[in-house]
Amino acid sequence: MVSRTDSTTLFDLAYSVARDSFDADSSKRSADKVCAVALNVAVDEAISLFSGKPGFDKLVERKGGTPKDAKMEITAKITEFLRDEGFKDNEINQCGRDPHGRGAMNCAEPKVYYYLRHVKNVDPSHWVVVPFNKTDNGLVYNPPCMNCRIWVYKHFHILSRTIAQGRAGDAALTGC
Ligand SMILES: [Zn+2]
Repeated sequence: MVSRTDSTTLFDLAYSVARDSFDADSSKRSADKVCAVALNVAVDEAISLFSGKPGFDKLVERKGGTPKDAKMEITAKITEFLRDEGFKDNEINQCGRDPHGRGAMNCAEPKVYYYLRHVKNVDPSHWVVVPFNKTDNGLVYNPPCMNCRIWVYKHFHILSRTIAQGRAGDAALTGC
């Protein structure tokens, strides 16, 4: 039986989910586009969402209801969540704390968090988050950015942190 709490196994599973997600993705590519994969540590279940508008559009679709209401509801809930984590409104919407320059809500990770908590109605702390991006050299692990690491290791399963440190070193933990 495959252990779902072994970080190497989880990483390999997440890698294959991210590869499939990028393969199936027809939305606009950008160099810093992130696909965040979340894996349930207890059962064989995985979800993924992209950063930016493609991820937001997919989240609106998965939430259901009228798109206008879904957009407002998602934006309000993620904003409230990030405020509770200490972000100022301009850091949430315009320019966060990472050199990539995106606001904190434009990352993939808060969309995954919202989806698990408010659409699937499950506890994100049972899910490991493993973010990737696709470069000219292929799919690479992309540790939570300076916006996300402040809250990701705390709210998702702790193996998210173990994987970040194992794959990207202590640099993945600075600022959190
Ligand atoms: Zn981020």
